[in-house]
Amino acid sequence: MIVKTNPDEFQNYLSDASNYQGTAEAVYLPESERELIELIKKCHTGKTRITVSGNGTGLTGARVPEGGVVISLEKMNRIMECHESEQYLRVQPGVILKELQDYVEEKKLFYPPDPTERNCFIGATAATNSSGARGFKYGPTRNYVIGLRVVLPSGETLGIERGEIMASGFTFSFSTDQGTKYEFSIPRFEMPDTKNASGYYCRADMDLIDLFIGSEGTLGIITELKLQLLPAIENILSCVVFFYDEEDAMNFMNDVRAATASDAPVQKKNIAARGLEFFNKSALDFLRPDYPSIPPNACAVWLEQELPDREDEITAAWLQLILKHHGDADTAWLAVNDRDREKFKDFRHAISWKVNDYVARRGLRKVGTDVAVPLESLRPFYQWMIDLVEKSRLQYVVYGHFGNCHVHLNMLPEDQNDFMKAKNIYAEICREAIRRKGTVSAEHGIGKMKRDYLMMMYGEQVIREMAGLKIVFDPGRILNIGNLFEEKYLR
Ligand SMILES: Cc1cc2nc3c(=O)[nH]c(=O)nc-3n(C[C@H](O)[C@H](O)[C@H](O)COP(=O)(O)OP(=O)(O)OC[C@H]3O[C@@H](n4cnc5c(N)ncnc54)[C@H](O)[C@@H]3O)c2cc1C
Repeated sequence: MIVKTNPDEFQNYLSDASNYQGTAEAVYLPESERELIELIKKCHTGKTRITVSGNGTGLTGARVPEGGVVISLEKMNRIMECHESEQYLRVQPGVILKELQDYVEEKKLFYPPDPTERNCFIGATAATNSSGARGFKYGPTRNYVIGLRVVLPSGETLGIERGEIMASGFTFSFSTDQGTKYEFSIPRFEMPDTKNASGYYCRADMDLIDLFIGSEGTLGIITELKLQLLPAIENILSCVVFFYDEEDAMNFMNDVRAATASDAPVQKKNIAARGLEFFNKSALDFLRPDYPSIPPNACAVWLEQELPDREDEITAAWLQLILKHHGDADTAWLAVNDRDREKFKDFRHAISWKVNDYVARRGLRKVGTDVAVPLESLRPFYQWMIDLVEKSRLQYVVYGHFGNCHVHLNMLPEDQNDFMKAKNIYAEICREAIRRKGTVSAEHGIGKMKRDYLMMMYGEQVIREMAGLKIVFDPGRILNIGNLFEEKYLR
């Protein structure tokens, strides 16, 4: 196993894409579950803290160590089995998502979860329950994880197949592979009825696998995943449409959502989007130097729909809807092949990436919302956010998965003073999202940077219960300390 003990060798493990910074004593790169278990047992005995690292593209400081050692799973990166007829894949956690997607595509299969940043590890996408543009149709990573192997902080292992270990109400009872019995109750609280990646997933009669998915590495280390695949879809309509009035774009997206959700049989539906993303005017202004063909004064909607047949009819329906809402059909970008579609993905990725780069270059941390609200609140909430940030005179850009009512408002602070102002606005936005029965994090998770907002969302009692749940699996308090809640709740 490679061990890096010289700080010069492991600086890149001490932050993530949010620019949150940490410290560690060493970085370990196990090459097998066996090596990992030996290491964890040593840490367990020596009470050494462990922070698990994926590929560091997270936006919340979740993989950033605050002391102790880092375990990176980059060497556990094998695709172990692709069962083409039963359409599943077994992989180690360090496989890069993009490589996984390319691999299954070659076999005419399809893995739907697509966080915009595809240079991440598949294990981390399950640990954070990532999702992306296609989440509008397909939902988050959780929906495609049908099996997990997990190493617990004690060094014992747990193999979980979806559907095998279910809670009875709010109580779980099961044994590890080594025979240690676990019996405990999960916290009872109401999760928002929106896309959500805030804290543990807890529901009556839930599946144990769902407790580990989205737990941000606080309960155990994922060493193997079994993933559900779907048949590949070859023909996809992908289009970026420009609008000159945000109201038009919002009305357009409302119609798309309603048509997609309608009860009409799929074979008869003309509008059935799989992705629906929005970019406001300032986001396009921010991108224009790199994309000069963006028309001036425009906002944009990027839409995708699968086209099994009736291509002409479906395209005509989209054109009609675009024109109804005064979209600019002449300047729209239409993908006619896979290469063009990739370019649109890069365009979507560019806005997130540029924002991260902008704040990192100023030595600051990202201040971008990840809130989602119920559909009926989206328009008033969005307008309220814009009024608030406009009043502050801070620069900002808005984009996000508007199909899911999920808004990334990123402030662009110039200095520490702006940063503090931005943080206050961020807190107000979270408060308002919660008031409207939404979530503070719909996809990036909580990590170390958003703990105060998880507390704001659920209150101290629930946070204490979540910390209690962590202690069930991690009585020595060694694994991913600082994610989800402050350490003081683990005492
Ligand atoms: C430009 C950009 C755009 C992005 N867009 C999206 C988006 O659209 N949707 C989205 O969901 N996210 C998005 N992200 C965030 C990020 O890409 C995802 O959260 C991704 O899943 C993180 O993967 P990673 O390998 O980089 O994990 P890391 O950041 O290294 O780690 C994330 C967390 O997973 C834990 N972890 C890692 N591996 C394991 C394991 N095997 N077992 C247990 N815990 C583990 C870590 O401890 C940490 O808590 C974006 C990031 C960037 C930079």
